[in-house]
Formats: sequence, C-alpha cells, structure tokens
Amino acid sequence: MSHAHPSTSESPVLIVGAGPTGLTLACELARRGVAFRLVEASPGPRPGSRGKGLQPRSLEVFDDLGVIDRILANGRSAMPIRLIDPDGRTSGGPTYEERPDVPYPATVITPQWRVEETLGLRLAELGGAVEFGTALESFTQSSDAVTALLRTGDQTETVRAQWLVGCDGGRGVVRKQAGIAFEGETDERIRMIVADLAVDGLDRDAWHMWRCAEGFVSLCPLPSTELFQYQAPIGGEPDLDLSTLQTIFARRSGRTDLRLHTPKWTSVWRSNTRLADRYREGRVFLAGDAAHVHSPAGGQGMNTGIQDAHNLGWKLAAGSPALLDTYESERRPIAAGVLQLSTARLAEAAKQKSIPIRSDRATTQLSVNYRGSVLARDDRGESAQLRAGDRAPDAPGLTTTTGTCRLFDLTRGGQFTLLNFGPRVEAPVRTFHVVARPAADDEIADSAGHLARAYSPTGRSLILLRPDGYVGLISDAGDFPAVQEYLL
Ligand SMILES: Cc1cc2nc3c(=O)[nH]c(=O)nc-3n(C[C@H](O)[C@H](O)[C@H](O)COP(=O)(O)OP(=O)(O)OC[C@H]3O[C@@H](n4cnc5c(N)ncnc54)[C@H](O)[C@@H]3O)c2cc1C
Repeated sequence: MSHAHPSTSESPVLIVGAGPTGLTLACELARRGVAFRLVEASPGPRPGSRGKGLQPRSLEVFDDLGVIDRILANGRSAMPIRLIDPDGRTSGGPTYEERPDVPYPATVITPQWRVEETLGLRLAELGGAVEFGTALESFTQSSDAVTALLRTGDQTETVRAQWLVGCDGGRGVVRKQAGIAFEGETDERIRMIVADLAVDGLDRDAWHMWRCAEGFVSLCPLPSTELFQYQAPIGGEPDLDLSTLQTIFARRSGRTDLRLHTPKWTSVWRSNTRLADRYREGRVFLAGDAAHVHSPAGGQGMNTGIQDAHNLGWKLAAGSPALLDTYESERRPIAAGVLQLSTARLAEAAKQKSIPIRSDRATTQLSVNYRGSVLARDDRGESAQLRAGDRAPDAPGLTTTTGTCRLFDLTRGGQFTLLNFGPRVEAPVRTFHVVARPAADDEIADSAGHLARAYSPTGRSLILLRPDGYVGLISDAGDFPAVQEYLL
C-alpha cells in the first residue's frame, strides 16, 4: 500500500468524535463563528437506538440550538409505560407535572441516531460538517498548541490546534493519551442485550416491560421508525441471533403470539461505572462518555454529554483561561451525581426486575445547577427559591411589541441576556427591560406575572442569564457595576 505524504494544517479547535456530544459542541462553535474540525472514525452516520430518552433539560438545550421542532417531530413525549407482571396485572409509568417555568416537562423517546441526524443537519445549516472516516491516532501538546495526527484511509495529516476536545466515547484515545485516569469499576456479571427490531402483533402506543423471576424483557417503540428497542439483561456471554432473542422474549413475557424479526442493529451493554479524574489536561478537554460512563438505567448518559458540550461551547468561544477552568469545576460534580443516580437506578432495576422510569427533577436534569461556582454571584439569602447558578426558569405570557411569547423565545441563541426590573441601563449585552406595557423593542411586559413568580425580583433587580441558560448574576439591589464587572 502506498502512503501519501503527510500534510499539515491548522484549526483553532479539533473535536474528536461525532456522537451527540461532539455534534452539540460543533453546533455551539459553528453558531458563534468559531472555526473547528469535527472528525469521526466511523465511515458514516452510526445506526442504533442506544440512548433513546431525551430529558427535559436537554430539550431546552435543543430549543436554544434551534432543533427542537425536528426532535419533537421524530420523537414521542411522555410515552406511556406498561409494566406487565407474570399474572397479567399491568401498571403504568410516571406522570409529568405541567409548570409554567418548564416548557418540556416530559422525557422524549427517540432513537439516538435521529438525535445525531438532527444535530448533523443543524450543523450543515450553520456551515459545518462531520469528517467521516477520519480518526485521531495520536497527539502531543505544548503550552501553545496541540499537534494531532489524523488518519483517513491510508492518508495521514498533522493538525495544529489551539484546543482538542475528546468527545470520543468511553473507549476513546484522547483521555488515555492525555494520561487522565478513569477511576471506577466494571462488573462483568451485569450485561444487557440491546437490539432494534420489528415485532409483528404488538401495539406501538406504549413501552412494554414484562417482568418475571428470571428478569425482564422490554420492547419500546422507536418513534419515526417501524422498529422497537429490545432490552434484556442476561448473565453470561450472549448470543445475538434472532432465535436467542425470541426464546428469551417468550420465556420472560409468556407471549408466544408475538413474532420478532431479524434485528437491524444489536449491541451488548456491560456494566462500567467510571469518572475521569480531570476534565482538562493543558489544551485538551474531555466531554460526554469520554469523561463519564455508567449504567443506562435512569437515562442520563447522552443527556449529560449534550449538556457538557453546551457548557463548554461558549467558554471555548470566549477563550479566556479562567472561564475555561470553570468547565471542569461545574461539570465534573454533575457527572459524579449522575453516576450515583444511575447506580441507584441499576440496583432498583435488579430488585424490581424492570427499568425504573422517573420524572423527578434529578432524572429530568432540571435541578442541575452551578450554585457555588465562581460564575454564580448574587445578593440573595440562602433560603431564596432562585439563586445564581440555578437553571434559568422559563416564563410564558410575556408581551412584547410583536406579540405574546415565552422567555425562552427571547433568550434563544446562546448569548448573555440581562433582565432588568429596575431603571433603564445601557448594558453591553442583550437586555430586556421589564415594564408595565412595552413601547420599545427591548421592553417586555410580564402580563400574567409568570416572570415575577419565577425570578422573585425587587423593583431594582438585575438578573443576568448565561449563554447556556443558567442564572449568572442576581443583583436585587440593582448594582449595575456588578453586572459590568461580571461581564468583563
Ligand atoms: C442500551 C443503551 C441505552 C441508553 N440509554 C440512554 C438514555 O436513555 N439516555 C441517555 O442519555 N443515554 C443513554 N445511553 C448512553 C448514550 O448512548 C451515551 O451516553 C452517548 O452515546 C454518549 O455520547 P458521546 O457523544 O459522548 O459518545 P459516543 O456516542 O460514544 O460517540 C463517540 C464517537 O467518537 C468516535 N470516535 C472514537 N474514537 C475516535 C477517534 N480516535 N477518532 C475519531 N472518532 C472517534 C466514535 O466512532 C463515536 O462516534 C444508553 C446507552 C445504551 C448502550
């Protein structure tokens, strides 16, 4: 085989891996006009339903990125759960509370490949692209650059980048080559077959879970396809052929009338719970499964990666070293919490012999917050309902000069937004003055009082929302210099 002469190029940011994490980060950078390259080892888009549950907080991220309509069109919100016992008794899943400050209260079920497709389309609209079939082989770094060796077929290329972001999954090379430990454990006794397949004779209006003494088997309809996701925990090394899947299914469900078809995609999940001991080594960052892996029970993994990318994107674009340090200090504790939550759910799954589905604020990730971060400043007391670092709540029923809207319609697009409840100020960021009746483009009226209920302002409050939808600063005293200093 002949090897072409290696070429050399430059790119400010090199993103390795185009799963949900790498694609979200690429969209974040593309919409801010930051040049990057996104390389993906696989030759084309990956099939497979994998992480099929999008949590409410990720849906807000996708609203901000401008892809929520496509996500909802290919998904199903609040999919009913049908848990079936050996005696034929059935019970249902969680209910979701409608709240004015939460635009998407329920988990959306959609195959992971649809999420990746949607983000890929958005990336193309923003002028970016995935370089499929190109793998990172190795890299070195100095104080001012990362030098990475990429391979596409028999061609190699050297890229000099300011920053390298490893979004290359749990087995990725970036973490290993950066010398970052991945502490945790692997439990070889716990495995689960996952397959995408068609089923004759089963209704598609609920996620069916049959449980028996041996374990459970579940079939979840995959919206926007003809397929179901099959899941069955098993003991030893599994066979993935159709007859094995059908036998396990019939034994655990007691249903011999349902015919499974040859799977379109199969995978075996193995229990692996690990957290990177650092998210950054010099000019190299880790995000998504490259930084944290855990059980799929609880439906957190992909969601946590998407939110890692949403946290890192605006900070990378700003490029300030102090700001970049807050990526690890804000996101690593969140992942540590996710590991605990998904481990607890896995234990529950083993005990109950079914997949525990919840709608609490930890599972929906609406309680994720960065209180105590150096980026969280306020003059409120401990007991205040909303503090700096919290997720910025939404509010419907706002009136502007162009009609009625929600707060998230005004904050969409990944910029800082200042909500000013006091006298007019001239801030260097997008500002909305909350007034009794809007007369100007930068004024909003909180006609139904939802904004006041969510933000509890005084008549002077200045509330600064970060580009990733968290409250950065609250000054109930109306201290405008504090806002200016924060933005600097
Ligand atoms: C059965 C199952 C159910 C799940 N359910 C849920 C759920 O309900 N909710 C949820 O949030 N999560 C769920 N997950 C987890 C979810 O699938 C992962 O957390 C998610 O895929 C992680 O995304 P990522 O982009 O970080 O990494 P990955 O999706 O692993 O993507 C990494 C990418 O990097 C590429 N790559 C690797 N090495 C290189 C290299 N050297 N050069 C270039 N490219 C490279 C890979 O080809 C891959 O495309 C589930 C997973 C499974 C298996």
